[in-house]
Parts: sequence; C-alpha cells; structure tokens
Amino acid sequence: MPSETASRLIENELLNDGDPARNLGTFVTTRMPPTPESLILQTLPKNIANNESYPATTDIQRKCVDMVAHLFHVPSSFSSPEQDATGTTTAGSSEAILLAVLALKLRWLSRRSSSSPTEQPNLILSSAAHICWAKACLYFSILPRYVPLIPPNLTLSPEAAISLVDSNTIGIVTILGTTHTGEYEPTFSLNSLLVSSKLDIPIHVDAASGGFVAPFLTPSLVWDFRLEKVVSINVSGHKYGLVYAGLGFIIWRSPEYLPKEMVMKMNYLGNPHQKTVTLNFSRGASHVVAQYYNLLSLGFDGYKNVMTDLTKIADLLADRIEDMGGFLVLSKRNGEGLPLVAFRLDDSITTRRFNEFDVAQELTRQGGWMVPAYTLAPNAEMINVLRVVVRQDFGVEQCSEFVEDLRMVMKRLNDSSFGSDKGIF
Ligand SMILES: *Cc1c(COP(=O)(O)O)cnc(C)c1O
Repeated sequence: MPSETASRLIENELLNDGDPARNLGTFVTTRMPPTPESLILQTLPKNIANNESYPATTDIQRKCVDMVAHLFHVPSSFSSPEQDATGTTTAGSSEAILLAVLALKLRWLSRRSSSSPTEQPNLILSSAAHICWAKACLYFSILPRYVPLIPPNLTLSPEAAISLVDSNTIGIVTILGTTHTGEYEPTFSLNSLLVSSKLDIPIHVDAASGGFVAPFLTPSLVWDFRLEKVVSINVSGHKYGLVYAGLGFIIWRSPEYLPKEMVMKMNYLGNPHQKTVTLNFSRGASHVVAQYYNLLSLGFDGYKNVMTDLTKIADLLADRIEDMGGFLVLSKRNGEGLPLVAFRLDDSITTRRFNEFDVAQELTRQGGWMVPAYTLAPNAEMINVLRVVVRQDFGVEQCSEFVEDLRMVMKRLNDSSFGSDKGIF
C-alpha cells in the first residue's frame, strides 16, 4: 500500500476515537505546550536504557528522580549532592508499584526468621485501590487483604487496616488521591497508630495522582517520607506531573529499602558498572526529558499555580452541579483532595427513572463528553458515581459548556419516560 494511502487510512480509522480534550474521565495529560512537545520529538530516537551512549539523558533522569524524592521529603542524608536518591523512572505508576511490591516482599523474606512457617505473604490495602495492585499481588503471589470501606467514609480506616496485620504482612498501602473520589487516605494517622502500637510494618503510599498535587497545594499535609513508616512512594509523571502518557516514578526512603537482588548489574552496553532496576529494559527517553522541562520551567511556584487553578475550576464545577439541583457532590473541595468532581444523583428523588450510567451515556450523545460512571468499592458498591477530572484543557469555558450540556441532559431525562417500555431512547 502506498504510504500516503496507508496514512490516510489510519487517519480515517482514528476519527472513531473520542476527542482527548472531552475525555473528562482520565487523569492522564492530554495537552502539552509546543516547547516540550518539540523536546519530545527531538529525543524520540533515544533509549533511556543506554546509559553509556546517552550520559546526558541518564543524568537528566537522575536529576528528575532526585527532585521528586526531594519533593517527597526523602531524609536529607539520602538526597544530597554526594548521594543520589534511591529510585527510578518507570513507564507509569503500575510499573512503579510492581517494583515497590517486589521490594516489600523480598525485604520481608530476608527479615523473616528461618524457623517461621512458609506461609503466603499478604499486603493490606483499601478496597478503593487501583486495579494495578491486584496485578502486583497476582504476579508476585501475594495475598491482598482488602480493608472494606465503611460508608460514608470512603478511605482506608487505619484501625481496620491494623487489625489485619500478622507476621506475614509485607506492608500497608495508603492512597494519596483515590481513583473513585480523589480523597487522600489517612497516612499520618496510620503511621501514628503503627508507631504507638509498636508494629514494625512499612507503609507504601500510592501517590499516582496526588504526588504532584498535595506537595504544592497542601504542604502542611504530612503524608510522605516525613513519616517514619513510609518506605516507598510512587507517582505518575503522566498525571499531574503534566507529561503525556508513559512516565512514572518509584522512590524509596533509603537504599536499605531497595533489596540488593533487585539491582541488576550488566556490562554489555560498554559500562561494567551499569545497573538496572526496572521491569522492562528499553524505554523512550522523551517523557523523562519532558518531565525535566516541566520541573525546570514550572518549578515549585509554577506547579502550585497550575494546581491552584485546577482546584478553582473543580470547586466552580462542584458548585454549579450542586446549584443545578438533583445531584450530591462526594469529592472534597479547597484542595483537600484531587482537583476532580465526583457526584451522584440525589436518591431522595424517588420518582426518577434513570441512573448515573444513563446520564454518562447521554453526555456523550450531547457533547461528546466522556464522563465515567461507576460503582464505588466494597462496602459502598451500592453507590453509583460520575466523575469529572479537571486537567489543564478544562478551563472556565469548557466548564460552562459542560454544565449547560449536563443541564440539557437532565431536562431530557427528566421529561422523558426513560426506563419505561415506551422510552424514547
Ligand atoms: C492511575 C493510578 C494508578 C496506575 O497508574 P498508571 O500510571 O496509569 O500505571 C495507580 N494508582 C492510582 C491511585 C492511580 O490513580
């Protein structure tokens, strides 16, 4: 097939995709300015695994890891000019979480007394955890012990988590910004409870989304390495790090928490001292370079401004949805959670013949809006939720347009005999 035909054919096929700017469900960056885009294009041919060939890129990666570790208050002796922070970039938080779980498991294995029974290790986490945690447990033969939610509280209960601890527990996970409602789980309370009950159990914080939000918006919220039990943290560069899909970070508190067996040495690319920790070997360098650009050009204040703006839009949207009537907003405001709006239909209106899934479907028909509807985690699975994630391509104008479309959708659904056999849909 001639190349032009192939490219036209592909472009036509791609027309069936939704518009990323109208994808209100994703946390992943859908718009970057021309300057970092051009850096991405320039660095596409480089493989981040080739440290020896690309020392500058390798150095950039190290600097990004150091900056993120610093942002998370890694103890200063482990993030100084003499000593690099312990961590790496990854393809995303999922890979970062696989590495973190493996490290927890290997450390538990090495510390377990040889006389103890060879039982299956377990990991304690909130039932609101992202699906990648189930993968990590499956791949590494770990028993996930899910802590059920106790509505109306939709985050991990530290007391309930601790009640599940036994000698085979490799760690407890908290989420800084749950996927469902964007809430921050109580890492501070969990840490205090572990300390006061003298339980030697490490905490991993899944900061996939919140890791690039909370440090800027709520610096007094203590959730990171300032807490003694927090041994590792992951974050997605491609979420609020503001880089396109394909970048995450895993940071360990100190070298002690990255088991030596996980640091593989190799020499076939010319450097006998080259080490590799990641699951996959080759990966494009461009996302790391784009992250470096964001960190340099935005800096702390730049990120703070972006996150403040996103939070203002999220708060505005929450107000307008509430003013419309018929909805309850479940997510936090004023930067106390991620900049998103999780809302549901007010179930005191019992005459209604439609649910959140119908609203989501109608929003797609109305304006091409992609808004996910889903049920919350066990024990709150009877609650349906709609969620709008506020990203940089959702400004005041898009917010107004969305609210108008939502109003029309609600009018149409309310007016119709939706749900009955004579439904017009
Ligand atoms: C997005 C997300 C993940 C998975 O991250 P990827 O970067 O998409 O691999 C894990 N945990 C939480 C809380 C998330 O929001």
